[in-house]
Amino acid sequence: MAAHPAQFSFELFPPRTPEGVAKLPGIAAALAALKPKYFSVTYGAGGSDQDGTYDTVVKVVESTGIEAAPHLTCVGSSRARIAALLDRYKAAGVKRIVALRGDLPATAIGTGAPGDFHYASELLSFIRQTHGDSFQLEVAAYPEMHPQARSPEADFEAFRRKVDAGADAAITQYFYVADAYFDFLERCAKAHITIPVIAGIMPITNHAQLTRFSAACGADIPRWVRLRLEQLQDDKAALQDFGLDVVSRLCETVLKGGAPGIHFYTLNQVEPTLRLWKQLGLPA
Ligand code: FAD
Repeated sequence: MAAHPAQFSFELFPPRTPEGVAKLPGIAAALAALKPKYFSVTYGAGGSDQDGTYDTVVKVVESTGIEAAPHLTCVGSSRARIAALLDRYKAAGVKRIVALRGDLPATAIGTGAPGDFHYASELLSFIRQTHGDSFQLEVAAYPEMHPQARSPEADFEAFRRKVDAGADAAITQYFYVADAYFDFLERCAKAHITIPVIAGIMPITNHAQLTRFSAACGADIPRWVRLRLEQLQDDKAALQDFGLDVVSRLCETVLKGGAPGIHFYTLNQVEPTLRLWKQLGLPA
């Protein structure tokens, strides 16, 4: 079957247990069979360190032959450490980086990140100054506004700063309201921002986890979805079937509405992404 015109990528996190490490090659192989454009590997979330991200990137590339992009954050890092890490990634053949501020410790909320770089735009400028166009740079975008932003306008201005600092593409925070994504695309068009804004999609598999994540990152779960998830929370199979319906319709809507691609937040699980893939009739 011909390749789909949109691009697809899969996000993984560095495993934190020996069982997780042992399972990773199987997870990466199963997802690699779907021929994503690239994998990305988070940093920092849940306490992972840069070695964990680096090792995972290297292992995924070795075991699948598919490009892997490390996430790099400002939080808790100095200019010298970022410079050393960029050199290490370059030497390992990395061509793409997801450049972020990172999540702040509770004490620092309301300010920029502690350290040499306060915002993702500063990290981007540094990477461009020191490495030119050696890396394709992806940044985060927030159709429903970043939870710590002063206003939607200020947040969009912050996004524009990242584009001006050299972002090649953006990946959105996950959302379940397609209109928020389309509104963001319209705001980009009005502002003459032309980089691809890839839709970040989180499969729905677990009520408690989704509620917790969404409260932290500001993703709106529509009332009717929330109520159904509450009702189904003790019936895992039914909840996952319902989640599959909701999220596959969302994917269809954004792809039909012009999304240049989808980035799946896999949480190192194969099955939810695989089921979505099949439901969407994507080429396997
Ligand atoms: P920024 O773009 O720097 O924005 C952060 C906040 O500061 C926003 O409220 C913005 O409006 C504001 N702001 C920006 N510039 C300025 C300025 N000059 N003056 C005043 N305010 C400003 N987190 C991790 O820890 N590890 C990961 O691996 C990770 N991966 C992610 C992947 C994706 C695709 C996404 C969408 C998010 C990811 N995150 C990750 C979460 C991310 O780090 C948080 O959402 C973080 O709080 C913001 O990061 P950012 O890069 O969007 O920050």
